[in-house]
Amino acid sequence: MSVWPIGVFASVDAGLGVHLEVVRDLKIPSIQLHAPHQNTRTPAAAAAFLSKCADAGITITAVFGGFEGESYADIATTSLTVGLVPEVTRAARVREMKEISDFTKLLGCDTIALHIGFVPDHKSENYQDLLRATRDLLDHAAANGQNLHLETGQETAEHLLHFIHDVNRSNLFINFDPANMILYGTGEPIDALKKVGKYVRSIHCKDAKWAAPEARGTGWGQEVPLGDGDVGMENYLRTLKEIGYTGPLTIEREIPQDPVRQKADIGHAVRLLETLRTKILGS
Ligand code: MG
Repeated sequence: MSVWPIGVFASVDAGLGVHLEVVRDLKIPSIQLHAPHQNTRTPAAAAAFLSKCADAGITITAVFGGFEGESYADIATTSLTVGLVPEVTRAARVREMKEISDFTKLLGCDTIALHIGFVPDHKSENYQDLLRATRDLLDHAAANGQNLHLETGQETAEHLLHFIHDVNRSNLFINFDPANMILYGTGEPIDALKKVGKYVRSIHCKDAKWAAPEARGTGWGQEVPLGDGDVGMENYLRTLKEIGYTGPLTIEREIPQDPVRQKADIGHAVRLLETLRTKILGS
């Protein structure tokens, strides 16, 4: 693929992503895919989906895991329900992520990704067990020839770096989402990107406005159309160039309750990113 192909977060039957028809209509050449439900993670379903992608000239660049019972209702609920961090569901979710890794291999894709959850304090026993679970998953992914990308936002850049260092595996990287840093109030996104830059192997193009100062750390910021928020898209792309990032610019617009507006916003984001790409790369 060329440098900075446009991408979009898409889904088959689960998650917040847009359907393939929208990707096709907007002529977007790459997708990150939300893993489908267990009963559709079959060789036949993979072959059928791959053939649809091939017909439309679409490349799958990563497959994101998601789990039953996850809720992003508010920051406290997210912390209790999302990713591999909640202890009661950890073993089952690691098993499911391994199945998703196997399905991703059927799709011919070398990257799995997920929100691991709010990484606990590094002095806790919970943290040690999370390290073991993450290594177990990474070793399974490595056997499938895959890397795992952790989505950013639920911890600061420093905390994430510390965790990656402690996991100590060569196939663990980052999917950087600048809007999440703002939504969760975990740090200024451009500074964070510079800090974690060497691990960034995929990214989201999403925008958000900070929560009011009195609500930061407890209340969400607000997700907004690309270019309307506090990320600063031109600065974001210039920083991606600075860290040597050449992968896809994957648009994420999480308003599945309003598909008409979602499609319009994604179309607008494609045009914005194409304009900025030309301005910054000259091509
Ligand atoms: Mg994201």
